[in-house]
Amino acid sequence: MAKKGRVFSGARPTGRQHLGNYLGAIKNYVALQADYECVYCIVDVHALTTVETTQELRQNTFEMALDWLAAGMYPEESIIFVQSHVPQVMELHTYLSMVTPLGKLTDLPTFKEKIRQQPENVNYGLVGYPVLMAADIVLYKTDIVPVGIDQAPHLEFTREVVRSFNYRYQTKVLIEPQVKHTEVLKVLGIDGREKMGKSLNNHIELALTPEETVKRVREMVTDPARQRKTDPGNPDVCNVFTMHKLFSGQDEVDMINVECRKAGIGCVDCKLRYANNLNKNLEPFRAKRAELAARPHYIQDVLDDGAKRARAIAEQTMVEVREAMQLP
Ligand code: SF4
Repeated sequence: MAKKGRVFSGARPTGRQHLGNYLGAIKNYVALQADYECVYCIVDVHALTTVETTQELRQNTFEMALDWLAAGMYPEESIIFVQSHVPQVMELHTYLSMVTPLGKLTDLPTFKEKIRQQPENVNYGLVGYPVLMAADIVLYKTDIVPVGIDQAPHLEFTREVVRSFNYRYQTKVLIEPQVKHTEVLKVLGIDGREKMGKSLNNHIELALTPEETVKRVREMVTDPARQRKTDPGNPDVCNVFTMHKLFSGQDEVDMINVECRKAGIGCVDCKLRYANNLNKNLEPFRAKRAELAARPHYIQDVLDDGAKRARAIAEQTMVEVREAMQLP
């Protein structure tokens, strides 16, 4: 069946993926493969704007690719590759930077946020980050970018850059990508307050053993007003219940919804039920991951092949870009 167009998405190499990554991005990446030609990129160059050593970059890239493949992102369906393996993106980034006003970049809330987060390392790459993102997207003649509502301004920025470039060089060579709004679940960490993330150490990795998963789930913060097992609880404010809704059967969810409110079920039991259901859900992923981890050369082959396919598209775009710019 003919696919509906090309999708691009990139993610920084953060190593072993956690539930937040899975529910917020990977699940959607997998689903999109059925209808679109997908280009999925591990954006290691972007990572260089915030990490000062590259020691963990290679391992993190490998682990992330491993999780992606184990979760059902197929190299037969999608181009899966590492950003730095396609040097054309740096060239396009440079050309796009010439049509981007500096003031626009320094005014972006994301840039201001980075200055706040790492005042000791406000590097040039941070300023140009959105331009590199734009280059990533348009290099592959992307039709559609899946984004959550809060990321939509980033894509609008890319569209503006494309318009500026096409206007300056009187060309149509770059395509304005369209937004595909996706429901990006905000998964809370085990603290029940902040978004799940490695930096806060409030995450649950997909590749944990079942026992490690149980241990992590037991640490989850529940309804803070419920101090004792005999206190009635409120599932509506409990992150464990939110996760039950994603991983447990409807009967069990309904039962917890009723019993929690009248102290008919304790939090320890409730968490154990969630951990067991989560483990059951992750069984096929973990089996596939173990199988792939035993074949590290295969992961490398997938990334090498992905880079080869990505470079072919990228070079074709750059031939057209250089031509449009009438570079000598
Ligand atoms: Fe949350 Fe379950 Fe405890 Fe209710 S019983 S507060 S839903 S963990």
